[in-house]
Amino acid sequence: MKAAFIYTPDFAIYDYGAGHPMKTIRLKLCYDLLDSYHIFEEEGVQLVKPLPAKKEEVILFHSEDYINALELQDTDSSLLHRYGLGFGDNPRFKGVFEWSMLSTGASIQAARMVSSGEVGVAFNISGGLHHAMTEKASGFCYINDPAVAIMVLLKQGKRVAYIDIDAHHGDGVQFGFYNTDKVLTISLHESGEFLFPGTGSVEELGEGEGKGYSVNLPFYPGTGDDVFVWGFDEIVPPLIEAYKPDVIVTQLGVDTMASDPLAHLNLTTDGFCRMIERFRSFNIPWVALGGGGYNVSAVARSWALAFGIMCGIEIPDEIPVDCLNNLKQYGMEGTTLRDHERAINGDSTTRKWAEANVKYIKENVFPFYGI
Ligand SMILES: [Zn+2]
Repeated sequence: MKAAFIYTPDFAIYDYGAGHPMKTIRLKLCYDLLDSYHIFEEEGVQLVKPLPAKKEEVILFHSEDYINALELQDTDSSLLHRYGLGFGDNPRFKGVFEWSMLSTGASIQAARMVSSGEVGVAFNISGGLHHAMTEKASGFCYINDPAVAIMVLLKQGKRVAYIDIDAHHGDGVQFGFYNTDKVLTISLHESGEFLFPGTGSVEELGEGEGKGYSVNLPFYPGTGDDVFVWGFDEIVPPLIEAYKPDVIVTQLGVDTMASDPLAHLNLTTDGFCRMIERFRSFNIPWVALGGGGYNVSAVARSWALAFGIMCGIEIPDEIPVDCLNNLKQYGMEGTTLRDHERAINGDSTTRKWAEANVKYIKENVFPFYGI
């Protein structure tokens, strides 16, 4: 499968501020890692520089007033409050508008390249900012690039399935398409009973024409590779096979990792990579986006492995020494690309929870698809 990696060093010039968990340096570390393995020199692999999104593209999903408030420096404080801008998780850091337009432009670029058939898969590691609502910044996200990319694909008449494996519920995307059957959204995440944003219950199924087209599989804290991937296998492949999308858009957040400081799941690169291999095996044009992930060296390693799988290239486990030294400055322990600690599989509660939720989906969602 031909593969594109959408990247510019400009991703890492933006800074959410000291103490904020979102570190754009993780994007550069991932690129550097792939570059150290010379992956961009492989046949069929393209490195593509993105352009910022245009305003007419982002307002396919967001309100124009909200985007203007994000752009302008002198926005009224009551409006900022209404739009969730400048508070807690969503500071108005220098270049916040440019950053958001650039990461969204990269997702649009990925969508266009995949949709045209130029490549089979395109990966924008700066994207996947799935919490932004049509009129509100939320959870480190200002412009919802997955939703904008989906709108671009819908305008081209494509049928889209969105699959989100971030530790957090993909709320902005789900609620953006909650009333339509034109987009199937599936989110696997740590239960909202224990983690931001609090939504994503298995009972959220969509409304009106969209009923049955929003699917949520929440997991109990502590869930590890085997249970998470088991749940994925029970739900995602049958729905994709039945829905028959023209394009899949995946949000590949890696805050599911055991080492992540924000969420409470226990995945390793092994479980994560098994899901990336499943996505590849669907053999459907594939827009791959990044997402959460707050242990920066784990993020760089996981997404490098993911891109290797997308390209069909087995990347050696030993990290080239220059790159390793750099990663060590960002807290990397160990010397290999893959995690080799024994997978932590959680207690029986994690499996019971997953089994109950999978059963609910099979009973309440699968009938919409005749499965
Ligand atoms: Zn997340």
